[in-house]
Amino acid sequence: MARILVVALQQEVSTFNPVPSTYEDFAVTKGAAMLDTFAGTDTYAGGALDVLGKAGGVEIVPVYSALACSAGTLAAHDYQRIREELLAAVAEAARGGVDGVLFLMHGAMAAFGQTDPEGDVLVAVRAIVGPEPAFAMSLDLHGILTGRMLAVCPAVAVLKTYPHVDFADAGARAARLLLGQLAEGWRPAAARIRMPILVRGDECITETGIYGRYLARATALEGRDGVVSTALMIGNPFTDVAELCSQAIAVTRGDAQAAEAAARAVADGFFDERARMQADLVSLDAAVELARSRTFPLVLKDAADAPSSGASGDSVEILRALHAAGISASVLAPVVDRPAVERAFATGVGGRATFRLGGTCDPRFAALEIEAEVAMLSDGRYPMETWGTMEQAGRCAKLRAGPFTIIATSRPVQLFDRSLFFGHGEDPHRFDVNIVKSPHCQRQFYDDWAARTVSVDAIGATSARVQTLGHTVCARPIYPLDPDTPFEVAVEHFG
Ligand SMILES: [Zn+2]
Repeated sequence: MARILVVALQQEVSTFNPVPSTYEDFAVTKGAAMLDTFAGTDTYAGGALDVLGKAGGVEIVPVYSALACSAGTLAAHDYQRIREELLAAVAEAARGGVDGVLFLMHGAMAAFGQTDPEGDVLVAVRAIVGPEPAFAMSLDLHGILTGRMLAVCPAVAVLKTYPHVDFADAGARAARLLLGQLAEGWRPAAARIRMPILVRGDECITETGIYGRYLARATALEGRDGVVSTALMIGNPFTDVAELCSQAIAVTRGDAQAAEAAARAVADGFFDERARMQADLVSLDAAVELARSRTFPLVLKDAADAPSSGASGDSVEILRALHAAGISASVLAPVVDRPAVERAFATGVGGRATFRLGGTCDPRFAALEIEAEVAMLSDGRYPMETWGTMEQAGRCAKLRAGPFTIIATSRPVQLFDRSLFFGHGEDPHRFDVNIVKSPHCQRQFYDDWAARTVSVDAIGATSARVQTLGHTVCARPIYPLDPDTPFEVAVEHFG
């Protein structure tokens, strides 16, 4: 029997979000409980456990899982706590012997004092289990794969869709990379080409955009010339760490030359698309004008404050602009605002009070003072439309102020689907204007039925106008921060 340890560590950080994330933001699952939590789910672990379970001759050893929503940089002490728990669990599990370790990661973590937590953990796990066990890893295409990570684990399987709908598939592919090493005895060789570009915008939507065509071309290389995995990662532009970039990767069964040839083919031409792969934003004034001209249903995307990208979620910039313009159309909007929620609980359902909404986390944002009726109070637990899992928004309040319906949450939550609104008795279809704090959503959630969907050029920790964020750590030059960034192909080899 091959003993395979399964370890999950996932968070995406925006280093421009001023609110540090903490241990409490992570859902930590240890040992066998991981099977109950993840089996059959559309997650990396769900896909991986399915493949390992069907493999035969495999003993699955679920070890440790720490998963958090995107947020600000992880506090140093809290990262150390997770690291120590994870490594202690690995050491304990390794006593029974280890043939392989499967890592289910995102890749865009960052902690104070450690800008490459995934690489740090991979090195430490290798030190515990020794040089023999095979490693493989799944990653998000927004991850920042470092040279240190690749040196320890060249066998990587990366998401191929955005908006992401292939979590389980990526986990399954990572599991197969591990099983292949164990069954066939090869050691992975990886080649990568780093490209100094940050991309955003609609061309990143894989079903319709340029990025999808490049990913399809990369996938077509798999299964030929010993190529077992290819990836084209675009990084998370909001994670300002040293190796932030886009990168092409190819993995083979030990053939470095073939890996290099495939990585070159994956990268070919992508840098030349850099100008087309930037976000198309409309100004706040233009967004207000669309509302004034009654282009309904209208979806105003506030990607600059998207919790799923790591922002704090407490911006009311768009709402404030609509309010100042005296817009009479019905508007549905979310906001993270613990003080407003507390005030609503103190006021009670049916009561009226003046609220100062927004700007409670990120000092970039100004508040909107507004008189509102408390329409509903909740414990912030509701099922997610995307995964069916329970979301935990903390205490929440639904406020009504004239045409505005505002769901205030105590904590940031994923807003790439409509769960928060359904969970509070509101159907986005029934509103003239929806403010959506996500850069993109699966089409059926908003785009399929909206008359117009625009991305608004508001301020925030995850603004698609990445030039405005103030990167200080990532290697320069990089496009579009540096418009004249040059690029020459350089291939790095691992394994
Ligand atoms: Zn992602």
